[in-house]
Amino acid sequence: MPNWMSYIYCQTCDRPLRKNEYRSVMTRRRGGWRETHYCQMCDSHASGPARLNRIIEMFFLGIVGAVFYYYGSKSEGLRVTVNGMLLVCSPSMLALLIFPCFWWHKLKYKPIYDRWVKLHGTDPEYWPRPSRPN
Ligand SMILES: [Zn+2]
Repeated sequence: MPNWMSYIYCQTCDRPLRKNEYRSVMTRRRGGWRETHYCQMCDSHASGPARLNRIIEMFFLGIVGAVFYYYGSKSEGLRVTVNGMLLVCSPSMLALLIFPCFWWHKLKYKPIYDRWVKLHGTDPEYWPRPSRPN
């Protein structure tokens, strides 16, 4: 069931965009690739919310890492160090840092989605076709 987190948003058009209503461009950035979205209607920069499931996965990755590190070191008779603990916990800490972004995105994108579905319903099949200036 799609919800407000399933879409990319164009703030100029003030609407959620379905897969065929935006184009994605991969650009090379320091440390890897970054995907940028553009609205097909107005060519504005479009973006979507941070993926909550990714944030949760990252958080648990850090916790699992810490548990394995702790019990692994104990059973090997090694000392559990603060630095080692911080290192294996880093995905969790990163997730905690990203989590406020998710709330900020929710404040930013969810009202657009709510307004849109009030007008056009929750089923994207029935959303109006974008009027493209030709
Ligand atoms: Zn647009």
